[in-house]
Amino acid sequence: MRTESILLTGGLGFIGSHTAVALKNHFKQIVIIDDLSNSVMNNYYRLKSLVGDCLILYKADIASQNVIDKIFLSHNIKAVIHYAGLKAVGESIIFPAKYYYKNVYSTKLLFEVLKKNKITNLIFSSSATVYGKPLYLAIDESHPVKAINPYGQNKIDIEQMIFNDPYFQEQCSVKILRYFNPIGAHPSGLIGDDPKGIPNNIMPIILKVATQEHQELKIFGNDYQTHDGTGIRDYIHIMDLVEGHVKALDYNKKGIIVFNLGTGKGFSVLDLINTFQEVNKVKIPYSFVERRSGDVDMVFANPDRAKTTLGFEALRSLQSMCFDAWNFVKKK
Ligand code: UDP
Repeated sequence: MRTESILLTGGLGFIGSHTAVALKNHFKQIVIIDDLSNSVMNNYYRLKSLVGDCLILYKADIASQNVIDKIFLSHNIKAVIHYAGLKAVGESIIFPAKYYYKNVYSTKLLFEVLKKNKITNLIFSSSATVYGKPLYLAIDESHPVKAINPYGQNKIDIEQMIFNDPYFQEQCSVKILRYFNPIGAHPSGLIGDDPKGIPNNIMPIILKVATQEHQELKIFGNDYQTHDGTGIRDYIHIMDLVEGHVKALDYNKKGIIVFNLGTGKGFSVLDLINTFQEVNKVKIPYSFVERRSGDVDMVFANPDRAKTTLGFEALRSLQSMCFDAWNFVKKK
């Protein structure tokens, strides 16, 4: 493995940056292409301090053909993890064409380059959002997909692009990873979830309340069919999630396979807040507001396929997710 390099598109994002750390001793070079649309250079310097000289950054959009060509010419790329894309669900509803272009069309261009360069080991970063409103729980990989917003549709479109391509079907090992709700941070506190602008997901919002940048957390709905009325999700520690990527990379069987990456356990918004408060001794004021449109009562994974096929199990606790997330913000 040590003579080979890996390309992480969108590698400065939350999941990509943690993966880069996890892959440190697996590849000669870890090459990132990232346009910094949802990241800042400081994240790169912090990541570099963890990964070292094998980390190489190209500051560009994946649609920049000349940069992508240069990467494949300059490095012995043997595997690709494709994270790059826009991910704000609300924004995708307002600007669906932009989302289609940046997510689906740009991926199509990238895939042409992968084929030209005979890349046979690919991981695509998908999302549990493709399942839409659950028809049953726990959600396994055979659950039907149905988008409830343009962002989810983009993920489905890309998955379909992979499934329908004879090159991927016959010559590659493609792993489609459907993430549940990754939170937490690297235990060093040097990297974490650091989105630009106003955050959409719950943990970055809790962190803003904890630092008093936001006055309170608005909990979307307290009348769901759950033990305390608030929505239930399958939160997975980012360090577990990236271990799942490492196992998926090592699984090099030909064909296209989908894996859920989740814990199989669900926690409510109030469970999450209470745990965060207990573990970190920080108060998170909150109030209840209307349900957020498109939200569902409960989502959690059936993680069995990843366990039996990859030997991967997410074992870190909700306590550790809350501790590491706050540790990152305290050290910022
Ligand atoms: N949530 C909330 N307030 C917020 C953001 C999220 O109550 O400001 C809730 C949301 O309704 C859901 C859970 O937190 O039950 C996780 O939301 P997130 O957007 O992080 O993930 P997703 O809904 O996409 O799974």
